[in-house]
Amino acid sequence: MAATATERKLLIGGEWVETGDWLDVRSPYSGDIVGRVAKAGAAEAKAAVDAAEKAMSDPLPAHKRAEILVKTVAGIARRHDEIARQISAEAGKPLKAAKVEASRAMSTYTFAAVEARKLAGDVVPMDASQAGEGKLAFTLREPIGIVGAISPFNFPLNLVAHKIAAALAAGCAVVLKPASQTPLSALTLAELEHEAGLPPGWLNVVVGPASEIGDVLVEDERVRAITFTGSSGVGWKLRERAARKKVVLELGNATPVIVHSDADLDEAASKLAANAFSFAGQSCISVQRIYVQKSGYDEFVKRFVPLVEDLVVGDPAEEDTDVGPVIDEDARERILSWIQEAREGGAEILAGGDLEGDLIRPTVIANATLDMKVCREEVFGPVVVLDSYESLDDAVALANGTRYGLQAGIFTADLRAALKAAKSLEFGGVTINEAPTFRADQMPYGGVKDSGNTREGPAYAVRELTEERVVVIDL
Ligand code: NAP
Repeated sequence: MAATATERKLLIGGEWVETGDWLDVRSPYSGDIVGRVAKAGAAEAKAAVDAAEKAMSDPLPAHKRAEILVKTVAGIARRHDEIARQISAEAGKPLKAAKVEASRAMSTYTFAAVEARKLAGDVVPMDASQAGEGKLAFTLREPIGIVGAISPFNFPLNLVAHKIAAALAAGCAVVLKPASQTPLSALTLAELEHEAGLPPGWLNVVVGPASEIGDVLVEDERVRAITFTGSSGVGWKLRERAARKKVVLELGNATPVIVHSDADLDEAASKLAANAFSFAGQSCISVQRIYVQKSGYDEFVKRFVPLVEDLVVGDPAEEDTDVGPVIDEDARERILSWIQEAREGGAEILAGGDLEGDLIRPTVIANATLDMKVCREEVFGPVVVLDSYESLDDAVALANGTRYGLQAGIFTADLRAALKAAKSLEFGGVTINEAPTFRADQMPYGGVKDSGNTREGPAYAVRELTEERVVVIDL
């Protein structure tokens, strides 16, 4: 391990724990070890649930939870640069995107603190029915119980923040299993919450084999909710297995965007070139399918392709890099094979399609058919497909022709077309004159169809992680 690499223990019951076994964290760019983390198994996961149970037996009042969340914001601000570099090192995320992620995590914690302070129920209008006459009723929002949180590699700080900050706001203790490839940022957040005064057991972080730790979270009845962000296959399987728990899922997408010929094509081209390839396309809402109205297609291609070719491919630690590596060799080989399938099937490669060193160059594909994986599946790599359409109805049908439904977008100057698309696109979110990769952390964010069953964003996640209890008083 390099002298600069980080060594991290697990956080269980307020103690930093070693297990005698270590998991190496490698740079997806250089392959160098950037850190190592104590490796947990089922025993540590069970100890973490025990600690969470003990913590919840002594509830933390909302003002204390909010204070801890606000202090964590200050901690991220203080170490912003170091945290961004750590995200970049473990995930291979270009530094400029990693800095944005660190800032967004501050926003997530800030909104979670607000939610902690305003967590309240409703008054029920009892005399609105004959049965309720003479009664007063209101609801309390009670924490759902211990939360098992499972997070993916691609936003190792901010997607962990969405889980653990919201759970704390809701009054729930957490057992977190971050992605094995990117656990360092999660452990930094745990350290910051710990320093901010979080009492033992409220946040426990276990890093290790997914199935072993996942089994504990699924099987232990004390874990009342599982909040999962990751791939659709894993997510829906977890939900099937944990039938008696609340299981909230934030999953993948094959993000479409419609460019109507009346749109500002310069604006559309520059926003889409940036958002199809940021973090090498490894965002759940990375632009993947661009449908351009026939009369504007050639003009759009003329603007879009040079912008894609201008993106700087290289070392994610460099300030000017736009596109770095994908997470590992398996992902790289899979993406290259999907490009090859398109090429062999007669699609045209307008940019990229090959490697620059070990990195996949930003790739633009035209004339791909709907059965090709680059159209049908979530690529999760630096690849977009372009196609043309005649009418808005055709474009909406193309965009909806997927099992996914997270976010979609439209660029147009026509208000009616924009609102018609907003109503008819079957997605959890629709952006107008903005890339569908856009997300502000207070938004309700989540999908329909295979993309999930919930909305994240502190206000919405706190609702999922609390139960409503009605109190009825006879007057
Ligand atoms: P993944 O392979 O599904 O892994 C996500 C998490 O699940 C990791 O912590 C992983 O652990 C864990 N896991 C894997 N198998 C498990 C099992 N059997 N039981 C319990 N946990 C298990 O996804 P990924 O490759 O990290 O992330 C990419 C996917 O996430 C893409 O599909 C992307 O679209 C989606 N995503 C969605 C959103 C959203 O908000 N909708 C945001 C970001 C990403 P290990 O790391 O140890 O394998």
